[in-house]
Amino acid sequence: MTIAMTERAIAAAKPLKDKVSVITGSTSGIGLGIARALAAAGSAVVLNGFGAPEEIKATQASIGAEFGVPVAFSGADMTKPEQIAEMVQTAIDMFGSLDVLVNNAGIQHVAPLQEFPVAKWDAIIAIDLSSAFHTTRLALPSMIAKKWGRIINIASAHGLVGSPFKAAYVAAKHGMLGLTKVTALETAEMGITCNAICPGYVYTPLVEAQIDGQAKAHGIPREKVIRDVLLAQQPNKRFATTDELGAIAVFLATDAASSITGAALPVDGGWTAH
Ligand code: NAD
Repeated sequence: MTIAMTERAIAAAKPLKDKVSVITGSTSGIGLGIARALAAAGSAVVLNGFGAPEEIKATQASIGAEFGVPVAFSGADMTKPEQIAEMVQTAIDMFGSLDVLVNNAGIQHVAPLQEFPVAKWDAIIAIDLSSAFHTTRLALPSMIAKKWGRIINIASAHGLVGSPFKAAYVAAKHGMLGLTKVTALETAEMGITCNAICPGYVYTPLVEAQIDGQAKAHGIPREKVIRDVLLAQQPNKRFATTDELGAIAVFLATDAASSITGAALPVDGGWTAH
C-alpha cells in the first residue's frame, strides 16, 4: 500500500477526523447513538444532557476509549439561553471550532388541548424548538469563519403530520422544520448545510419501558403492543435503531451530503407516505 492509499483509507474510515461535534440531549437514546457514530467517524464530541454524574463520566470514558477521540460534557439546560451560550463557547474554546451541531434534546407531553398544562407547553417549545435557535445562532460564526459546517436537527414524523394530544410537540417539531429551511437558505453559499431528520418510532430505553407497561396494563402480549399500539401508524412494523439514526447523521455530516440542505428526511418506515 502506498502512503497516498493509506491516507485515503484513513479518510474513508474516519471522514470526520479533526471535526468537533456538539450533540444536545446526548446522555441517552438517539442523541447518544448519534454521538457514538460521530465519534466512530473520528469527530471530537461534546455530550450534553441530564443524568447521574458517574454514569455520564462512564459514557465519556467508554466513547473516548472505544473511538480514540476527545469527549467533553456540558450539563447546560436547554431551557436556559445563557447556559446554551456557555456550552457553545466552551466547546469552541476547548477545541478551536464547532463544526457539526446536532439539535436533538427533546421532551414530550401528551394531553388534550383544553387540559394541556401551560408549563409543559412552555418547556416543550423551549427544549424542542427554541434551544435549536440558540445553538444555531451561537454556532454559526465559527462555521462561517471556517466556511464549513453541518447542522442536523432531530425533528420527528410529527414535524410532518399531527397526532391528537401532542399539541406542543407537534407544533415544536413543525417549527423545527421551518427553522431548518431558513438556516439552510441563509447559509447556502457558506459551505454550511442544515437538514432535519424526522424519525418515526425509534427503539430506546423509554420505548422498551412503554412496551412492558402497556402489555401489563392491557394484558396483551408484547408483540401485539408493538404491532398494534406503538407501531399502529408505522407501516414497516419495526422500530428504527439509534445506530441507524447515528449512521444517517454521519452521512449528512460528510462531504457526500454537501448538496443536501433544507431537507426533512423521513426515517419512519413509511408512516408519512400515507
Ligand atoms: P431520551 O429521553 O432518551 O433523550 C433525551 C435527551 O435530552 C436526554 O439526554 C436528556 O437528558 C436530554 N434533555 C432533556 N431535557 C433537557 C434539557 N432541558 N436540557 C438538556 N438536555 C435535556 O429521548 P429520545 O427518544 O432519544 O429523543 C431524542 C430526540 O429524538 C427528541 O428530540 C425526540 O423528540 C426525537 N424523537 C424521538 C423518537 C423516538 O421514537 N424515540 C421519535 C421521533 C423523534
